[in-house]
Amino acid sequence: MTRVTIVGAGPGSADLITLRGARALVSATVVLHDALIDPALREMSPHAEWIDVGKRGFCDSTAQARINALLVHHARAGGHVVRLKGGDPSVFGRLDEELEALAAAGIACEVVPGVTAAIAAAADLRRPLTRRGSGRSVALSTAMTRAGQLVATRGADTEVFYMAGRQLAALSRRLIVAGWPPETPVAVVSRAGWPDQHGSDHRVDTLPEAVVLHGGRPTVVIVGVGAIALPVAESAGPSSAADTAPLPPLVAGAKP
Ligand code: SAH
Repeated sequence: MTRVTIVGAGPGSADLITLRGARALVSATVVLHDALIDPALREMSPHAEWIDVGKRGFCDSTAQARINALLVHHARAGGHVVRLKGGDPSVFGRLDEELEALAAAGIACEVVPGVTAAIAAAADLRRPLTRRGSGRSVALSTAMTRAGQLVATRGADTEVFYMAGRQLAALSRRLIVAGWPPETPVAVVSRAGWPDQHGSDHRVDTLPEAVVLHGGRPTVVIVGVGAIALPVAESAGPSSAADTAPLPPLVAGAKP
């Protein structure tokens, strides 16, 4: 029997979690969660013990080893442990380390996918990351190496950089070194998927100016074809029908 479910919460608002993820929360007895999780998700699991294991920047960090130990400890205690992670667990989520720790302890687990920040950003901007004929590939890249160095690449028609929000000026220079022409379109989105998301348009060489709008917020940087704006009508805004419609009952018989 699965005792640990690793769930992608999505990038922001509680309603971006999947139905499968919501189901896991409903039956959880313990939830180990990241820092940037919408507090509204607690309403899905009010009786579970919620433990914040979030790592914030480079300070106040709960070591990954401690998270792994907590996962194993609570699973052995016999409950249903949900490890709730921001975005998708398999994208820059250290999922490999948690899977290894669980396997080493002989504990079975399930992984429930989530909406990763790049996908939420594309939806917020209404800009497809692939474009028929011109955008054949998408890369999700971290701008930070494990040693804390900034790197940039040019490996796909659209490249989305995570973890670069604090270093947009340096990223601009590195993108040019990596071979992106200075006039390449760049879209920056912070707090994608939240009601206060911001998006802005730049070029590779003017990217440093984005810090004014996005500084200090979780940010993704979309470079290349996927950053090219398309004509779109004004958004329906937060009161659109999709935001206020009642949720359907969960489909009977579906997993888990
Ligand atoms: N697993 C997560 C990524 C975790 S790494 C996912 O799939 O989205 C943390 C980085 O993700 C941040 O530095 C930032 O670059 C990005 N990020 C997370 N949430 C975001 C959001 N709501 N909007 C924009 N970028 C976000």
